[in-house]
Amino acid sequence: MQESTLSIIKPDGVEKNLIGQIYKRFEDSGLRILAARMIHLTKEDAEGFYGIHSGKPFFSDLVSYMTSGPVMVQVLFGEDAISKNREIMGATNPKDAEKGTIRSDFAESIERNIVHGSDGPETANSEISFFFKREEICLPTI
Ligand code: ATP
Ligand code: MG
Repeated sequence: MQESTLSIIKPDGVEKNLIGQIYKRFEDSGLRILAARMIHLTKEDAEGFYGIHSGKPFFSDLVSYMTSGPVMVQVLFGEDAISKNREIMGATNPKDAEKGTIRSDFAESIERNIVHGSDGPETANSEISFFFKREEICLPTI
């Protein structure tokens, strides 16, 4: 099924100058970028976005990390985009991630793991609308 998902290149990915290499992986796998923006999240943005994790022991570190520098946010679109993006990303902990995935190749640790991807259709919808207005998403014309 053709669907959309939200991807974030986290501050360590931007800092390491990996935007182009990560975009190439998305494109090589057939995903299209329909919207994109670089932003520096505020504490309120990061707390809101990761609200599901509030109360977990790593929450305040996660918010500090996500606000430590600019991030790239993008809407990815294509066949099974949600699971395809999660496959390209690899497991949350880079130690468990399969070779050739973004996290295995570039991430330092479970805390600094380079990318985010929505984990299901409901979160994809809510995360996309967290960052983008409908008119900012350029649907494919082909
Ligand atoms: P993301 O939501 O960022 O795509 P994920 O879905 O693979 O990652 P989640 O369980 O949603 O993993 O956790 C969100 C983020 O919180 C992780 O990407 C990671 O940065 C951080 N995190 C998750 N679990 C831990 C942990 N046990 N210790 C430290 N940080 C963690
Ligand atoms: Mg998650």
